[in-house]
Amino acid sequence: MRPQTFGDVTIHRILEIEGPFTRPDAVFPNATPKALEPDMHWLINHAICADTGKLILPIQSYVVQTPDHTILIDTCVGCGKTDDFPDWNNRDDDTWLRNLRAAGFAVEDIDFVFCTHLHSDHTGWNTRLLDGRWVPTFPNAKYILSRVEVANAEAKGSNTYKQNVAPILEAGQAQLVETDFALNDMIHLSPTPGHTAGHVCVHIHSNGHHGVMIGDAMHSPIQLAHPDWSMIFDDDMELAAKTRQSLLDSLCETKTMVFTAHLPSPSAGRVTAHPDRPFDFKYVEKD
Ligand SMILES: [Zn+2]
Repeated sequence: MRPQTFGDVTIHRILEIEGPFTRPDAVFPNATPKALEPDMHWLINHAICADTGKLILPIQSYVVQTPDHTILIDTCVGCGKTDDFPDWNNRDDDTWLRNLRAAGFAVEDIDFVFCTHLHSDHTGWNTRLLDGRWVPTFPNAKYILSRVEVANAEAKGSNTYKQNVAPILEAGQAQLVETDFALNDMIHLSPTPGHTAGHVCVHIHSNGHHGVMIGDAMHSPIQLAHPDWSMIFDDDMELAAKTRQSLLDSLCETKTMVFTAHLPSPSAGRVTAHPDRPFDFKYVEKD
């Protein structure tokens, strides 16, 4: 995705990983080869890798540059983190940090970090290892985190919480907020529970334009055809399906620019209607 400008805002995509992830039916219980068959003609290379049959799934962040602030949305997997998912465990790859710099941003430039939720692929670069301790990567940032999300993550006590969230709280850089929090007239959150209880979308308004970061409310273009198909990583699969359906309904055939966490590159675009399925996605131009 090229940087997208609307109103007084420019949005940069910062990619960490993009590649074949898993077979669709390994993570979407409904996505059996038979159930996918009618849609394979458009899913191939658009959602599913032709060579491997696996989902194409990027891990990425967005940087929102407003006249007043530089805001980072989600922070990918990071380096050196202990993670249950083997591909993300103890990564030694600073591609994301280099891509952030290439987009023109130093870690000191980030004023606010928002996490749509606190899973390991959305919080990794929240921290980095310094002299054997996890410290905030962005020394000047306030990290805006959903209060309920933090409480649930703390109760689980996962490595992700210990490595990516607790050090932010200890450093005094966290601001715990409700899921409808507004930073100012430009940036606000909306609750989108299901994937996790405290999952939020991040909305950007500027001069009559609207953009939204939808995090893990949707994971794959497969869900444009089947918005009711939830992923095994959705904490409440039924609620996630309801949230996704109403989110897609609210975005369909509007001018809202949608920035997805996991749809294949270029990952951003608009939700449209389609004669053969509930929704379609008109991507912005590729890089
Ligand atoms: Zn995710």
